[in-house]
Amino acid sequence: MLYSGGVTILENVALAQYTTLGVGGVARWFVETSDEDEILTAVRFARTQGAPCFILGGGSNLLISDYGFNGVVVHVAPGTLAWTEADDETVSIKADAGVEWDAVVRLAVEKNGAGVECLAGIPGSVGGTPVQNVGAYGQEVSQTIVRVRALDLAAEKVVELTAAECEFGYRRSIFNSIERGRYAITRVEYKLAIGGAPLLEYRDVKNYFVERGIARPTLAQTSAAVREIRARKGMLLVADDADSHSAGSFFKNPVVEVKEVARLAAVAGCRVADVPQFPAGWGYEPEDCVVKLSAAWLMELAGFGKGFAIGRAGLSSKHVLAIVNRGGATAAEIVALRDAVIEGVLARTGIRLEQEPVLLGFADGRG
Ligand SMILES: Cc1cc2nc3c(=O)[nH]c(=O)nc-3n(C[C@H](O)[C@H](O)[C@H](O)COP(=O)(O)OP(=O)(O)OC[C@H]3O[C@@H](n4cnc5c(N)ncnc54)[C@H](O)[C@@H]3O)c2cc1C
Repeated sequence: MLYSGGVTILENVALAQYTTLGVGGVARWFVETSDEDEILTAVRFARTQGAPCFILGGGSNLLISDYGFNGVVVHVAPGTLAWTEADDETVSIKADAGVEWDAVVRLAVEKNGAGVECLAGIPGSVGGTPVQNVGAYGQEVSQTIVRVRALDLAAEKVVELTAAECEFGYRRSIFNSIERGRYAITRVEYKLAIGGAPLLEYRDVKNYFVERGIARPTLAQTSAAVREIRARKGMLLVADDADSHSAGSFFKNPVVEVKEVARLAAVAGCRVADVPQFPAGWGYEPEDCVVKLSAAWLMELAGFGKGFAIGRAGLSSKHVLAIVNRGGATAAEIVALRDAVIEGVLARTGIRLEQEPVLLGFADGRG
């Protein structure tokens, strides 16, 4: 154990326990704090060692190399969660980065604030949500985030970024693209519509209520339904469900030009209407439009069904998109399965899938 500027720095800390996949080696140095000054101290310590620094949240979107990380990991510790009624129509929730995301959803629903009910049950921390613009069942955090407070690690100062400045897109923000590694997020403010109607855009959620004869579900019923649907898919962290030892969806849904849909229908031998697709952007001409395809459908077309495995890494038995640690898997096995899927889908469909989780400790950043 070391001390630097009053901060305790642990050495050789096993990282697997801090991730939902449960794989990965050790961090050379490890600091746990939610304090902005202490985060900066840890960053300065890394600099004096000539080592990189990594901000770790709930570890639910992360694949860590078997060799670990030769740098400083700053694990963002839990903080506080507060709400205010901003006006008659909106409730504002301010949450420190280390707060569990699901606690925000539960508070929003309790205060009758609409906008995050379909994001119930997503693991990880508040600080992780803007990074990849967390989304599910038709909602994304970008729709409710007003402000992100962060430390600019290069300039060593606190900044407040508006949602526009975060440049949110599908599974994207400045934090995981052009400004990757620059900021440590310390607080996020969300704005929710009081008494707003829950979003029932996605088929799974709509069907859930149709089957139960519920015409106007409440926010609480909607978030409970989402949790139940997620549990069926192994997309909720459940202690005794081996299928939840994952990083969630391992592959992003590819966004392609609309003309690709007809080509894929020919490849699959199905009708164009049977290719799962969602509008993802409009062009001046109809052929310029882009659509989001289903990565799961492409994988199944390429022969990667539920439960497919390489060694101790497998596809979830409930949801083909999740790569699961079936017990004692190494990061190398997970990478081998990932590469087999990417190459197989490319060969069969001409589409290259992109992985969603962040890699840590891999020499070329790809594993
Ligand atoms: C079972 C399961 C289901 C999932 N379902 C979904 C889903 O439906 N939709 C979805 O979008 N995601 C889903 N995920 C992925 C994951 O839960 C989210 O991406 C989550 O927001 C990651 O947050 P985290 O705190 O765990 O981040 P981590 O995994 O710890 O880190 C991920 C990235 O965010 C960065 N980061 C984390 N905290 C901070 C911070 N405070 N400041 C700066 N950078 C930070 C890290 O440096 C890293 O680059 C799922 C995961 C699992 C295991």
